[in-house]
Amino acid sequence: ASALVWLRRDLRCDDHAALYHALRRFGRVYCAFVFDTDILDALPTRSDRRVEFIHASVLELHQGLAELAARSGAPGGGLIVRHGPAPECIVRLARSLGVQEVLANRDYEPQAIERDRRVARALQAAGIAFSDYKDQALLDRDEVLTRQGRPYGVFTPYRRAWLQRLDAFQLTPYPVASHARHLAAPPAGECLPTLQELGFARTNLHELPLPTGMRGAQLLLQDFMPRMAAYHEARDYPGRKGVSYLSVHLRFGTVSIRQLAALAAAQAAQGCEGAQAWLSELAWRDFYFMILWHHPQVATQSFKPVYDRVQWDDAPELWQAWCGARTGYPLVDAAMRQLHQTGYMHNRLRMVVASFLTKDLGLDWRRGERHFAAHLNDYDLAANNGGWQWAASTGCDAQPWFRIFNPVTQSQRFDPQGRFIRCYLPELARVPDAHIHFPAAMGPLELAACGLRLGVDYPLPVVDHARARERTLMRFHFLGASE
Ligand code: FAD
Repeated sequence: ASALVWLRRDLRCDDHAALYHALRRFGRVYCAFVFDTDILDALPTRSDRRVEFIHASVLELHQGLAELAARSGAPGGGLIVRHGPAPECIVRLARSLGVQEVLANRDYEPQAIERDRRVARALQAAGIAFSDYKDQALLDRDEVLTRQGRPYGVFTPYRRAWLQRLDAFQLTPYPVASHARHLAAPPAGECLPTLQELGFARTNLHELPLPTGMRGAQLLLQDFMPRMAAYHEARDYPGRKGVSYLSVHLRFGTVSIRQLAALAAAQAAQGCEGAQAWLSELAWRDFYFMILWHHPQVATQSFKPVYDRVQWDDAPELWQAWCGARTGYPLVDAAMRQLHQTGYMHNRLRMVVASFLTKDLGLDWRRGERHFAAHLNDYDLAANNGGWQWAASTGCDAQPWFRIFNPVTQSQRFDPQGRFIRCYLPELARVPDAHIHFPAAMGPLELAACGLRLGVDYPLPVVDHARARERTLMRFHFLGASE
Protein backbone atom coordinates (compact mmCIF):
# COMPACT_ATOMS: atom_id res chain seq x y z
CA ALA A 1 0.00 0.00 0.00
CA SER A 2 1.21 3.53 -0.66
CA ALA A 3 0.60 7.04 0.66
CA LEU A 4 1.42 10.63 -0.18
CA VAL A 5 2.68 13.06 2.46
CA TRP A 6 1.73 16.61 1.54
CA LEU A 7 4.20 19.03 3.15
CA ARG A 8 3.15 22.63 3.71
CA ARG A 9 4.56 24.57 6.65
CA ASP A 10 6.63 21.61 7.86
CA LEU A 11 9.65 21.64 5.57
CA ARG A 12 11.83 19.09 7.30
CA CYS A 13 12.35 15.35 7.24
CA ASP A 14 13.08 14.67 10.88
CA ASP A 15 10.64 14.60 13.81
CA HIS A 16 7.71 15.05 11.42
CA ALA A 17 4.31 13.73 12.51
CA ALA A 18 2.61 13.07 9.15
CA LEU A 19 5.75 11.62 7.59
CA TYR A 20 6.31 9.33 10.56
CA HIS A 21 2.72 8.03 10.54
CA ALA A 22 2.85 7.47 6.79
CA LEU A 23 6.15 5.58 6.96
CA ARG A 24 4.92 3.42 9.81
CA ARG A 25 1.66 2.50 8.13
CA PHE A 26 2.51 2.29 4.42
CA GLY A 27 5.06 0.35 2.43
CA ARG A 28 5.70 3.10 -0.10
CA VAL A 29 5.58 6.78 0.85
CA TYR A 30 5.83 9.71 -1.56
CA CYS A 31 6.42 13.26 -0.38
CA ALA A 32 5.18 16.36 -2.18
CA PHE A 33 5.25 20.12 -1.86
CA VAL A 34 3.13 22.53 -3.91
CA PHE A 35 4.09 26.11 -4.66
CA ASP A 36 0.48 27.09 -4.29
CA THR A 37 -0.62 29.71 -6.82
CA ASP A 38 -3.71 30.43 -4.70
CA ILE A 39 -1.24 31.91 -2.17
CA LEU A 40 1.56 33.12 -4.47
CA ASP A 41 -0.73 35.01 -6.84
CA ALA A 42 -2.11 37.03 -3.93
CA LEU A 43 1.33 38.31 -2.84
CA PRO A 44 1.79 42.01 -3.50
CA THR A 45 5.19 41.68 -5.27
CA ARG A 46 7.12 39.16 -7.35
CA SER A 47 10.11 39.51 -5.08
CA ASP A 48 9.40 38.04 -1.67
CA ARG A 49 11.91 36.80 0.87
CA ARG A 50 9.49 34.14 2.08
CA VAL A 51 9.16 32.56 -1.35
CA GLU A 52 12.93 32.51 -1.68
CA PHE A 53 13.28 31.07 1.84
CA ILE A 54 10.75 28.35 1.04
CA HIS A 55 12.38 27.63 -2.32
CA ALA A 56 15.83 27.19 -0.76
CA SER A 57 14.36 25.07 2.05
CA VAL A 58 12.49 22.87 -0.43
CA LEU A 59 15.71 22.19 -2.37
CA GLU A 60 17.42 21.20 0.87
CA LEU A 61 14.46 19.02 1.88
CA HIS A 62 14.57 17.20 -1.44
CA GLN A 63 18.21 16.35 -0.79
CA GLY A 64 17.49 15.49 2.83
CA LEU A 65 14.81 12.97 1.85
CA ALA A 66 17.09 11.42 -0.76
CA GLU A 67 19.92 11.07 1.78
CA LEU A 68 17.57 9.64 4.38
CA ALA A 69 16.39 7.02 1.90
CA ALA A 70 19.94 6.21 0.80
CA ARG A 71 21.07 5.71 4.41
CA SER A 72 18.28 3.25 5.07
CA GLY A 73 18.80 1.33 1.84
CA ALA A 74 15.55 2.51 0.20
CA PRO A 75 15.59 2.63 -3.59
CA GLY A 76 14.50 6.29 -3.79
CA GLY A 77 13.55 9.27 -1.76
CA GLY A 78 13.14 12.91 -2.64
CA LEU A 79 10.43 15.47 -3.03
CA ILE A 80 7.83 15.83 -5.76
CA VAL A 81 7.30 19.55 -6.40
CA ARG A 82 4.32 21.09 -8.16
CA HIS A 83 3.41 24.66 -9.06
CA GLY A 84 -0.31 25.44 -9.30
CA PRO A 85 -3.47 25.57 -7.18
CA ALA A 86 -2.66 23.20 -4.31
CA PRO A 87 -6.00 21.34 -4.07
CA GLU A 88 -6.04 20.42 -7.76
CA CYS A 89 -2.32 19.54 -7.80
CA ILE A 90 -2.59 17.24 -4.78
CA VAL A 91 -5.72 15.43 -5.92
CA ARG A 92 -4.28 14.90 -9.41
CA LEU A 93 -0.95 13.72 -7.99
CA ALA A 94 -2.55 11.33 -5.50
CA ARG A 95 -4.61 9.77 -8.28
CA SER A 96 -1.72 9.44 -10.69
CA LEU A 97 0.48 7.83 -8.02
CA GLY A 98 -2.35 5.49 -7.09
CA VAL A 99 -1.99 6.09 -3.34
CA GLN A 100 -4.58 5.03 -0.77
CA GLU A 101 -4.14 7.99 1.55
CA VAL A 102 -2.86 11.56 1.69
CA LEU A 103 -1.39 12.64 5.03
CA ALA A 104 -0.62 16.19 6.13
CA ASN A 105 0.17 18.16 9.25
CA ARG A 106 -2.68 20.23 10.60
CA ASP A 107 -3.13 23.94 9.98
CA TYR A 108 -5.24 26.29 12.11
CA GLU A 109 -5.89 29.15 9.70
CA PRO A 110 -9.48 29.41 8.43
CA GLN A 111 -8.46 29.44 4.75
CA ALA A 112 -6.17 26.46 5.19
CA ILE A 113 -8.88 24.53 7.05
CA GLU A 114 -11.30 25.25 4.21
CA ARG A 115 -8.69 24.21 1.62
CA ASP A 116 -8.07 20.93 3.44
CA ARG A 117 -11.82 20.24 3.61
CA ARG A 118 -12.06 20.71 -0.14
CA VAL A 119 -9.09 18.43 -0.73
CA ALA A 120 -10.47 15.77 1.63
CA ARG A 121 -13.82 15.83 -0.21
CA ALA A 122 -12.22 15.59 -3.65
CA LEU A 123 -9.94 12.77 -2.51
CA GLN A 124 -12.84 10.92 -0.93
CA ALA A 125 -14.70 11.09 -4.24
CA ALA A 126 -11.69 9.34 -5.79
CA GLY A 127 -11.62 6.71 -3.03
CA ILE A 128 -8.54 8.18 -1.34
CA ALA A 129 -8.44 8.91 2.40
CA PHE A 130 -7.12 12.14 3.94
CA SER A 131 -5.76 12.46 7.46
CA ASP A 132 -4.10 15.25 9.40
CA TYR A 133 -1.80 15.32 12.42
CA LYS A 134 -0.77 17.71 15.13
CA ASP A 135 2.74 18.82 14.33
CA GLN A 136 3.24 22.58 14.39
CA ALA A 137 1.76 23.05 17.87
CA LEU A 138 2.75 21.29 21.07
CA LEU A 139 -0.84 21.24 22.33
CA ASP A 140 -3.67 22.19 20.01
CA ARG A 141 -7.44 22.62 19.63
CA ASP A 142 -9.17 21.20 22.74
CA GLU A 143 -6.08 19.82 24.47
CA VAL A 144 -5.91 22.66 26.99
CA LEU A 145 -9.33 23.66 28.32
CA THR A 146 -10.62 25.30 31.50
CA ARG A 147 -12.21 23.18 34.22
CA GLN A 148 -15.57 24.03 32.67
CA GLY A 149 -14.33 22.53 29.41
CA ARG A 150 -14.10 25.86 27.61
CA PRO A 151 -11.17 27.37 25.70
CA TYR A 152 -9.08 29.85 27.65
CA GLY A 153 -9.29 33.54 26.78
CA VAL A 154 -6.56 34.67 29.16
CA PHE A 155 -2.94 33.65 28.76
CA THR A 156 -1.63 33.22 32.33
CA PRO A 157 -4.04 30.46 33.43
CA TYR A 158 -3.71 28.93 29.95
CA ARG A 159 0.07 28.76 30.36
CA ARG A 160 -0.28 27.15 33.78
CA ALA A 161 -2.58 24.46 32.38
CA TRP A 162 -0.39 24.15 29.25
CA LEU A 163 2.71 23.51 31.38
CA GLN A 164 0.88 20.86 33.40
CA ARG A 165 -0.31 19.15 30.24
CA LEU A 166 3.10 19.23 28.54
CA ASP A 167 4.47 15.79 29.35
CA ALA A 168 7.34 13.72 28.00
CA PHE A 169 5.13 12.26 25.29
CA GLN A 170 4.40 15.70 23.80
CA LEU A 171 8.13 16.42 23.65
CA THR A 172 9.22 13.11 22.14
CA PRO A 173 10.45 13.34 18.56
CA TYR A 174 8.85 11.22 15.84
CA PRO A 175 11.59 8.76 14.80
CA VAL A 176 11.28 9.20 11.05
CA ALA A 177 14.71 7.76 10.24
CA SER A 178 13.91 4.35 11.70
CA HIS A 179 11.17 3.83 9.08
CA ALA A 180 12.83 5.62 6.17
CA ARG A 181 13.21 2.44 4.12
CA HIS A 182 9.61 3.01 3.02
CA LEU A 183 10.43 6.26 1.26
CA ALA A 184 9.55 6.06 -2.42
CA ALA A 185 11.42 7.72 -5.25
CA PRO A 186 9.62 10.51 -7.11
CA PRO A 187 8.38 9.37 -10.56
CA ALA A 188 11.00 9.53 -13.32
CA GLY A 189 11.47 12.88 -15.02
CA GLU A 190 10.58 14.97 -11.96
CA CYS A 191 12.55 18.16 -11.55
CA LEU A 192 12.43 21.07 -9.13
CA PRO A 193 11.46 24.50 -10.50
CA THR A 194 13.85 27.40 -10.17
CA LEU A 195 12.77 30.58 -8.40
CA GLN A 196 12.54 32.28 -11.80
CA GLU A 197 10.33 29.49 -13.14
CA LEU A 198 7.99 30.21 -10.24
CA GLY A 199 7.85 33.80 -11.46
CA PHE A 200 9.85 35.28 -8.58
CA ALA A 201 13.06 37.31 -8.45
CA ARG A 202 15.82 36.99 -5.88
CA THR A 203 15.70 39.25 -2.82
CA ASN A 204 18.38 40.36 -0.35
CA LEU A 205 17.81 37.15 1.66
CA HIS A 206 21.40 35.96 1.11
CA GLU A 207 22.74 39.18 2.68
CA LEU A 208 20.78 38.63 5.90
CA PRO A 209 21.89 36.55 8.88
CA LEU A 210 19.07 34.16 8.08
CA PRO A 211 20.30 30.75 6.97
CA THR A 212 17.56 28.70 5.30
CA GLY A 213 16.28 25.15 5.65
CA MET A 214 16.79 22.54 8.34
CA ARG A 215 20.52 23.25 8.48
CA GLY A 216 19.88 26.97 8.88
CA ALA A 217 17.50 26.33 11.75
CA GLN A 218 20.06 24.17 13.56
CA LEU A 219 22.73 26.85 13.09
CA LEU A 220 20.48 29.47 14.67
CA LEU A 221 19.57 27.07 17.45
CA GLN A 222 23.25 26.36 18.22
CA ASP A 223 23.83 30.08 18.32
CA PHE A 224 20.92 30.61 20.70
CA MET A 225 21.50 27.72 23.12
CA PRO A 226 24.33 29.38 25.08
CA ARG A 227 22.25 32.59 25.19
CA MET A 228 19.02 30.97 26.37
CA ALA A 229 19.90 31.34 30.07
CA ALA A 230 19.99 35.15 29.67
CA TYR A 231 16.86 35.35 27.52
CA HIS A 232 14.62 36.82 30.23
CA GLU A 233 17.03 39.72 30.76
CA ALA A 234 18.08 40.36 27.19
CA ARG A 235 14.92 39.69 25.19
CA ASP A 236 13.47 43.20 25.38
CA TYR A 237 16.44 45.09 23.97
CA PRO A 238 16.43 45.31 20.17
CA GLY A 239 20.05 46.52 20.15
CA ARG A 240 21.23 43.33 21.85
CA LYS A 241 21.29 39.78 20.57
CA GLY A 242 18.82 38.50 23.13
CA VAL A 243 16.27 36.48 21.17
CA SER A 244 16.50 33.32 19.08
CA TYR A 245 15.54 34.63 15.59
CA LEU A 246 13.96 31.22 14.99
CA SER A 247 10.46 32.48 14.17
CA VAL A 248 10.73 32.10 10.41
CA HIS A 249 11.95 28.52 10.89
CA LEU A 250 9.02 27.80 13.17
CA ARG A 251 6.75 29.38 10.57
CA PHE A 252 7.88 27.08 7.80
CA GLY A 253 8.59 24.08 9.99
CA THR A 254 12.27 23.79 9.12
CA VAL A 255 12.70 23.07 12.81
CA SER A 256 10.52 20.91 15.05
CA ILE A 257 8.68 22.65 17.87
CA ARG A 258 9.19 19.49 19.96
CA GLN A 259 12.96 19.74 19.63
CA LEU A 260 12.93 23.38 20.77
CA ALA A 261 10.47 22.85 23.61
CA ALA A 262 12.30 19.76 24.88
CA LEU A 263 15.57 21.72 25.09
CA ALA A 264 13.88 24.61 26.88
CA ALA A 265 11.84 22.37 29.20
CA ALA A 266 14.97 20.45 30.30
CA GLN A 267 16.71 23.69 31.30
CA ALA A 268 13.53 25.19 32.76
CA ALA A 269 13.17 22.15 35.01
CA GLN A 270 16.64 22.95 36.42
CA GLY A 271 15.34 26.39 37.40
CA CYS A 272 16.85 28.29 34.47
CA GLU A 273 14.83 31.52 34.27
CA GLY A 274 15.81 32.26 30.70
CA ALA A 275 14.57 28.86 29.56
CA GLN A 276 11.34 29.31 31.53
CA ALA A 277 10.73 32.65 29.84
CA TRP A 278 11.47 31.22 26.39
CA LEU A 279 9.18 28.25 26.99
CA SER A 280 6.44 30.77 27.84
CA GLU A 281 6.89 32.34 24.41
CA LEU A 282 6.34 28.94 22.83
CA ALA A 283 3.16 28.73 24.94
CA TRP A 284 2.02 32.07 23.46
CA ARG A 285 2.44 30.52 20.05
CA ASP A 286 0.16 27.58 20.94
CA PHE A 287 -2.25 29.99 22.68
CA TYR A 288 -2.80 32.04 19.53
CA PHE A 289 -3.16 28.91 17.34
CA MET A 290 -5.82 27.76 19.81
CA ILE A 291 -7.58 31.16 19.79
CA LEU A 292 -7.68 31.24 15.99
CA TRP A 293 -8.96 27.68 15.80
CA HIS A 294 -11.77 28.31 18.29
CA HIS A 295 -12.56 31.85 17.13
CA PRO A 296 -11.80 32.05 13.39
CA GLN A 297 -13.73 35.33 13.19
CA VAL A 298 -10.76 37.11 14.83
CA ALA A 299 -9.07 37.04 11.43
CA THR A 300 -11.21 40.03 10.50
CA GLN A 301 -13.06 41.09 13.66
CA SER A 302 -12.10 42.16 17.14
CA PHE A 303 -11.96 39.31 19.63
CA LYS A 304 -14.16 41.42 21.89
CA PRO A 305 -17.07 42.53 19.66
CA VAL A 306 -17.55 45.84 21.51
CA TYR A 307 -14.26 47.03 20.02
CA ASP A 308 -15.56 46.70 16.49
CA ARG A 309 -17.45 49.89 17.31
CA VAL A 310 -14.22 51.86 17.74
CA GLN A 311 -14.23 54.76 15.27
CA TRP A 312 -10.74 54.64 13.79
CA ASP A 313 -9.45 57.61 11.84
CA ASP A 314 -8.69 57.62 8.15
CA ALA A 315 -5.64 59.80 7.78
CA PRO A 316 -3.73 58.88 4.62
CA GLU A 317 -0.76 61.12 5.45
CA LEU A 318 -0.33 59.49 8.88
CA TRP A 319 -0.61 56.03 7.33
CA GLN A 320 2.05 56.99 4.78
CA ALA A 321 4.29 58.33 7.53
CA TRP A 322 4.04 55.07 9.50
CA CYS A 323 4.63 52.82 6.47
CA GLY A 324 7.39 55.09 5.19
CA ALA A 325 9.25 55.23 8.54
CA ARG A 326 8.76 59.01 8.68
CA THR A 327 6.85 59.58 11.92
CA GLY A 328 9.53 61.65 13.66
CA TYR A 329 9.67 59.08 16.48
CA PRO A 330 13.06 57.39 15.95
CA LEU A 331 12.30 54.03 17.58
CA VAL A 332 9.16 53.64 15.48
CA ASP A 333 10.93 54.68 12.27
CA ALA A 334 13.97 52.48 12.91
CA ALA A 335 11.68 49.52 13.57
CA MET A 336 9.78 50.06 10.33
CA ARG A 337 13.06 50.25 8.41
CA GLN A 338 14.19 47.00 10.03
CA LEU A 339 10.95 45.43 8.81
CA HIS A 340 11.34 46.63 5.24
CA GLN A 341 15.08 45.97 4.94
CA THR A 342 15.13 42.53 6.58
CA GLY A 343 11.57 41.18 6.94
CA TYR A 344 12.19 40.86 10.69
CA MET A 345 11.13 43.09 13.56
CA HIS A 346 12.06 42.61 17.18
CA ASN A 347 9.10 41.72 19.44
CA ARG A 348 9.41 44.85 21.62
CA LEU A 349 9.31 46.95 18.47
CA ARG A 350 6.30 45.11 17.06
CA MET A 351 4.48 46.13 20.23
CA VAL A 352 5.75 49.71 19.99
CA VAL A 353 4.87 50.28 16.31
CA ALA A 354 1.49 48.54 16.65
CA SER A 355 0.64 50.67 19.66
CA PHE A 356 1.83 53.76 17.80
CA LEU A 357 -0.34 53.04 14.76
CA THR A 358 -3.48 52.40 16.76
CA LYS A 359 -3.12 54.63 19.82
CA ASP A 360 -1.00 57.53 18.54
CA LEU A 361 -2.17 57.70 14.93
CA GLY A 362 -5.68 56.37 15.64
CA LEU A 363 -5.64 53.99 12.66
CA ASP A 364 -7.36 50.62 12.47
CA TRP A 365 -5.22 47.70 13.68
CA ARG A 366 -6.30 45.68 10.63
CA ARG A 367 -4.33 48.01 8.36
CA GLY A 368 -1.17 47.47 10.35
CA GLU A 369 -1.80 43.77 10.52
CA ARG A 370 -2.06 43.57 6.72
CA HIS A 371 1.15 45.57 6.35
CA PHE A 372 2.98 43.14 8.62
CA ALA A 373 1.46 40.25 6.68
CA ALA A 374 2.98 41.60 3.49
CA HIS A 375 6.45 42.16 4.95
CA LEU A 376 7.22 39.80 7.87
CA ASN A 377 9.30 36.75 6.99
CA ASP A 378 7.71 34.95 9.93
CA TYR A 379 4.19 36.19 9.16
CA ASP A 380 1.74 33.89 10.83
CA LEU A 381 -1.96 34.74 10.93
CA ALA A 382 -2.50 33.47 14.49
CA ALA A 383 0.48 35.21 16.15
CA ASN A 384 0.24 38.37 14.07
CA ASN A 385 -3.46 38.80 14.66
CA GLY A 386 -2.98 38.06 18.34
CA GLY A 387 -0.15 40.58 18.60
CA TRP A 388 -2.07 43.32 16.81
CA GLN A 389 -5.24 42.80 18.79
CA TRP A 390 -3.16 42.78 21.98
CA ALA A 391 -1.58 46.12 21.10
CA ALA A 392 -4.88 47.65 19.93
CA SER A 393 -6.60 46.44 23.13
CA THR A 394 -9.27 44.66 21.08
CA GLY A 395 -8.06 41.11 21.67
CA CYS A 396 -8.18 38.38 24.26
CA ASP A 397 -5.95 39.13 27.22
CA ALA A 398 -5.00 42.37 25.54
CA GLN A 399 -3.24 45.42 26.87
CA PRO A 400 -6.01 47.44 28.62
CA TRP A 401 -7.03 50.37 26.41
CA PHE A 402 -6.02 53.00 28.93
CA ARG A 403 -2.42 51.73 29.02
CA ILE A 404 -0.77 53.49 26.14
CA PHE A 405 2.90 53.03 25.29
CA ASN A 406 4.86 56.24 25.19
CA PRO A 407 7.15 55.83 22.15
CA VAL A 408 9.82 58.06 23.71
CA THR A 409 10.02 56.39 27.12
CA GLN A 410 9.90 52.95 25.43
CA SER A 411 12.91 54.08 23.44
CA GLN A 412 14.75 55.37 26.52
CA ARG A 413 14.12 52.12 28.37
CA PHE A 414 14.78 49.56 25.68
CA ASP A 415 17.36 51.26 23.46
CA PRO A 416 19.05 53.52 26.03
CA GLN A 417 22.08 54.51 23.93
CA GLY A 418 20.10 54.44 20.71
CA ARG A 419 22.24 51.61 19.38
CA PHE A 420 19.36 50.07 17.47
CA ILE A 421 18.06 53.45 16.27
CA ARG A 422 21.47 54.48 14.89
CA CYS A 423 21.78 51.18 13.05
CA TYR A 424 18.65 51.86 10.95
CA LEU A 425 18.59 55.68 10.99
CA PRO A 426 22.15 56.70 10.04
CA GLU A 427 20.88 60.27 9.61
CA LEU A 428 20.70 60.41 13.41
CA ALA A 429 24.18 58.94 13.96
CA ARG A 430 25.57 62.18 15.42
CA VAL A 431 22.61 62.99 17.66
CA PRO A 432 23.71 62.67 21.32
CA ASP A 433 22.24 59.81 23.41
CA ALA A 434 20.12 62.21 25.45
CA HIS A 435 18.20 63.34 22.34
CA ILE A 436 18.28 60.26 20.13
CA HIS A 437 14.84 59.20 21.37
CA PHE A 438 13.15 62.45 20.40
CA PRO A 439 15.27 64.81 18.30
CA ALA A 440 12.36 67.27 18.05
CA ALA A 441 13.12 68.34 21.62
CA MET A 442 16.55 69.72 20.63
CA GLY A 443 17.13 73.46 20.55
CA PRO A 444 18.70 75.23 17.54
CA LEU A 445 22.22 75.14 19.02
CA GLU A 446 22.03 71.44 19.79
CA LEU A 447 20.69 70.75 16.30
CA ALA A 448 23.48 72.78 14.74
CA ALA A 449 26.08 70.98 16.87
CA CYS A 450 25.12 67.61 15.38
CA GLY A 451 24.33 68.97 11.93
CA LEU A 452 20.72 67.81 11.90
CA ARG A 453 18.10 69.77 9.97
CA LEU A 454 14.73 68.73 11.37
CA GLY A 455 12.08 68.50 8.72
CA VAL A 456 14.82 68.03 6.10
CA ASP A 457 17.18 65.24 7.23
CA TYR A 458 14.68 63.76 9.63
CA PRO A 459 10.93 64.50 9.95
CA LEU A 460 9.25 66.47 12.67
CA PRO A 461 6.88 64.36 14.78
CA VAL A 462 3.63 63.72 12.89
CA VAL A 463 1.61 63.78 16.11
CA ASP A 464 2.02 65.04 19.64
CA HIS A 465 2.00 61.96 21.86
CA ALA A 466 0.25 63.58 24.84
CA ARG A 467 -2.59 64.90 22.68
CA ALA A 468 -2.87 61.65 20.71
CA ARG A 469 -3.13 59.78 23.99
CA GLU A 470 -6.03 61.94 25.14
CA ARG A 471 -7.87 61.36 21.85
CA THR A 472 -7.41 57.60 22.19
CA LEU A 473 -8.69 57.60 25.75
CA MET A 474 -11.81 59.44 24.55
CA ARG A 475 -12.21 57.11 21.58
CA PHE A 476 -12.34 54.07 23.85
CA HIS A 477 -14.11 55.80 26.72
CA PHE A 478 -17.11 56.66 24.52
CA LEU A 479 -17.61 52.97 23.79
CA GLY A 480 -18.41 52.45 27.42
CA ALA A 481 -15.66 49.84 27.45
CA SER A 482 -14.93 49.26 31.08
CA GLU A 483 -11.73 47.22 31.22
P1 FAD B 1 11.91 34.56 20.47
O1 FAD B 1 11.81 35.64 21.48
O2 FAD B 1 13.18 33.82 20.39
O3 FAD B 1 10.70 33.56 20.76
C1 FAD B 1 10.73 32.18 20.34
C2 FAD B 1 9.51 31.84 19.56
O4 FAD B 1 8.34 31.95 20.36
C3 FAD B 1 9.27 32.74 18.37
O5 FAD B 1 10.04 32.35 17.28
C4 FAD B 1 7.76 32.55 18.14
O6 FAD B 1 7.50 31.39 17.40
C5 FAD B 1 7.24 32.34 19.55
N1 FAD B 1 6.72 33.62 20.06
C6 FAD B 1 7.40 34.56 20.73
N2 FAD B 1 6.58 35.56 21.10
C7 FAD B 1 5.35 35.24 20.64
C8 FAD B 1 4.08 35.85 20.69
N3 FAD B 1 3.87 37.01 21.33
N4 FAD B 1 3.05 35.25 20.08
C9 FAD B 1 3.21 34.06 19.46
N5 FAD B 1 4.39 33.43 19.38
C10 FAD B 1 5.45 34.00 19.96
N6 FAD B 1 5.25 36.10 15.67
C11 FAD B 1 5.25 35.34 14.57
O7 FAD B 1 5.82 34.24 14.59
N7 FAD B 1 4.63 35.75 13.43
C12 FAD B 1 3.99 36.95 13.34
O8 FAD B 1 3.42 37.29 12.29
C13 FAD B 1 4.00 37.79 14.48
N8 FAD B 1 3.43 39.02 14.44
C14 FAD B 1 3.42 39.80 15.57
C15 FAD B 1 2.80 41.05 15.53
C16 FAD B 1 2.76 41.86 16.65
C17 FAD B 1 2.05 43.21 16.60
C18 FAD B 1 3.37 41.42 17.84
C19 FAD B 1 3.35 42.29 19.06
C20 FAD B 1 4.01 40.18 17.89
C21 FAD B 1 4.04 39.36 16.77
N9 FAD B 1 4.68 38.10 16.79
C22 FAD B 1 4.65 37.32 15.66
C23 FAD B 1 5.29 37.57 18.02
C24 FAD B 1 6.79 37.87 18.22
O9 FAD B 1 7.03 39.23 18.02
C25 FAD B 1 7.70 37.07 17.28
O10 FAD B 1 7.36 35.70 17.35
C26 FAD B 1 9.16 37.21 17.68
O11 FAD B 1 9.54 38.56 17.65
C27 FAD B 1 10.04 36.41 16.72
O12 FAD B 1 11.39 36.54 17.04
P2 FAD B 1 12.22 35.34 17.69
O13 FAD B 1 12.03 34.10 16.90
O14 FAD B 1 13.61 35.83 17.85
O15 FAD B 1 11.49 35.21 19.08
